[in-house]
Amino acid sequence: MDASRLNPRQKEAVFHGDGPLLIVAGAGTGKTRTLAFRIARLVSDGVPPDQILAVAFTNKAADELRGRVRSILRGKGSPPPISTFHSFGVRVLRQDAERLGFKRNFTIYDTSDQLSVMREVARESHVVGRDLDAKKLLWIISRAKNDGVAPDPGDGSDEYRLLAAQLYPRYAAALRAYNALDFDDLLLMTLRLFRDEERVLRAWKKRARHILVDEFQDTNHVQYDLVRLLAGRSGNLTVVGDDDQSIYGWRGAAPGNIHGFVRDWPQTKVITLDQNYRSTCTILTAANAVIENNPHRRPKNLWSDLGEGVPVTVLACRAGEDEASAVVERIVSLIAEKRCRGGDCAVMFRTNAQSRLFEDALRRAGLRYVVIGGMRFYDRKEVRDLVAYLSCLHNPRDEVSLLRILNYPPRGIGRETVHRLQAASLAGGRPLVEVMKGAASVEGVAERQAGAVTGFLARVEEMRRWFRPGSLAEATRRLVGAVGLEEALLRSVKDRDAGHRKVENVREVVSALAAFERGEPRADLGDYLAAANLSGREDESEEPAADSVVLLTVHAAKGLEFRHAFLAGFEEGLFPHERSCLAPGGLEEERRLAYVGMTRAMESLTITYTGERTRWAREVVCEPSRFLAELPEDAVRFEQASAAEGPGDAEDEARIAGEYLARIRSRL
Ligand code: ATP
Ligand code: MG
Repeated sequence: MDASRLNPRQKEAVFHGDGPLLIVAGAGTGKTRTLAFRIARLVSDGVPPDQILAVAFTNKAADELRGRVRSILRGKGSPPPISTFHSFGVRVLRQDAERLGFKRNFTIYDTSDQLSVMREVARESHVVGRDLDAKKLLWIISRAKNDGVAPDPGDGSDEYRLLAAQLYPRYAAALRAYNALDFDDLLLMTLRLFRDEERVLRAWKKRARHILVDEFQDTNHVQYDLVRLLAGRSGNLTVVGDDDQSIYGWRGAAPGNIHGFVRDWPQTKVITLDQNYRSTCTILTAANAVIENNPHRRPKNLWSDLGEGVPVTVLACRAGEDEASAVVERIVSLIAEKRCRGGDCAVMFRTNAQSRLFEDALRRAGLRYVVIGGMRFYDRKEVRDLVAYLSCLHNPRDEVSLLRILNYPPRGIGRETVHRLQAASLAGGRPLVEVMKGAASVEGVAERQAGAVTGFLARVEEMRRWFRPGSLAEATRRLVGAVGLEEALLRSVKDRDAGHRKVENVREVVSALAAFERGEPRADLGDYLAAANLSGREDESEEPAADSVVLLTVHAAKGLEFRHAFLAGFEEGLFPHERSCLAPGGLEEERRLAYVGMTRAMESLTITYTGERTRWAREVVCEPSRFLAELPEDAVRFEQASAAEGPGDAEDEARIAGEYLARIRSRL
């Protein structure tokens, strides 16, 4: 390990002995790098890798951290498993879920599975209402779970709060009956297990002799409690974070955790870092000026010796399309001048929907790109259908998956029959799959239909026997053929190409399984499903290639860095986002988000805004974001998208952009 690549305070953190350590420092100061070195240092000192619990915020961040540790170790020792909190929960629960009344082969329900359950529960409880917003109910439930409490009905004036509190016990009971856990449960049930089962906690404490957590500012209460239980009073716990980058308050993150840390572990060694190794001085000056507008923050003294660099460009554009063309035009010049490759450039935006215009412009320019957090692979219908088959084979009680595939591809089992079976299951309190076995005796189910149902079950039983560790991919290939999934897909769409793309996605699952099996030859179907469920969940997709321009939301950009960063859509209502500003502290969180976006840039930062934009299928006139007015004038160069960069009437365009330019200047 070459510690000469660390500054004195980073070194101090890396070589800090036992006991709690908190690194609280600004963006780009090497927090993640220090964490990687510290993990490598522990391994070099002979700590067995399986006694180190390292936690990153997303699977992508975990992969990156693992890569960094591996390269620091240079073959001298292997990196420990690096988890997210959720994947750690899966590991714990796969061993001991039975103590909580679940089976170990539980299924993990994602948002769309949860929605099915919630709608079902609402229907059963006679809360029919066609307009019922099940997502909103789940959101309320999730917030409560992340705070570690049951949903609170409030004083009754908020209909949804009341409903969420009423329906929650039924929702939880349904998941239990299906032997399924939702994402929040992965944390909550793990915490419950640790709290209630002394022996389990003790066993995991042994396997978590050293705990290290990145991006600690975005942990929620449940995650904090997990860490607290595992680390114990005097624990060997290293956490790193930056309170200015807390951007998940809307998902229950509690930035106070970073300050509470010193209260819970009074003997904590606190190390601050203030040299930023990522960005030019100009970029830092601009980012610092914006974040300084947040009240109640602890001042930081972030500096860089990477030189002044070029000014931050604020680019005024006429409309959304012009913004996309202007940004892509600039990326094309950067690449043409050989100043970078596509992958060195990122376009960040506040909302997912903004990506399409940039995708179109990049395609027109013939540039490759990746969308991180776009339509995720495991969200595609054909992929979900196949995964539902696998899930049913693994956990026969997984009712959501069972219903998904019961008549897909169509095998003559009608909706009416399905409803009768469900009703019988509900009335008798028996799992649906059990009721299906005796379909012929269920009232109202015709003989032919009952035959189709039992035939289907027999088929499932037969297929289940194909799945053995080491033959998962092969068994899945057989399954796809046996149930005729590909034919059904080709029949389902008129456009042959679209049909083939779907078929390719199905085959991609088989390839994914084969790759998974090569890495983990002893894994069973449940292990694969857990991995697939988790990796499909986050703001991430395939690994970006070095030549692909990266498109992503600012949330997904956390922890990353790019030589040339473009931040789009700095307009009131969009960034800061109008909806987020309604919540208390919302505007401050939006400002932190702007700060996170700006501090991703290494060499150049371009911020764009438009005079008008199509939102929700309507043209809206846009005001420049208040964050633009917070930029220091001497660090910024104002420009307007030139006529050459966008289509449309050149004179008109220049005039409109000029007007906006004047307006934003007048606000400074
Ligand atoms: P963020 O707050 O955005 O997560 P961070 O504090 O985790 O940032 P890193 O990503 O670890 O920062 O580091 C930022 C950049 O600075 C990386 O490219 C890293 O390699 C580099 N860096 C950090 N410390 C040093 C150092 N001592 N010498 C040279 N480069 C460094
Ligand atoms: Mg980091």
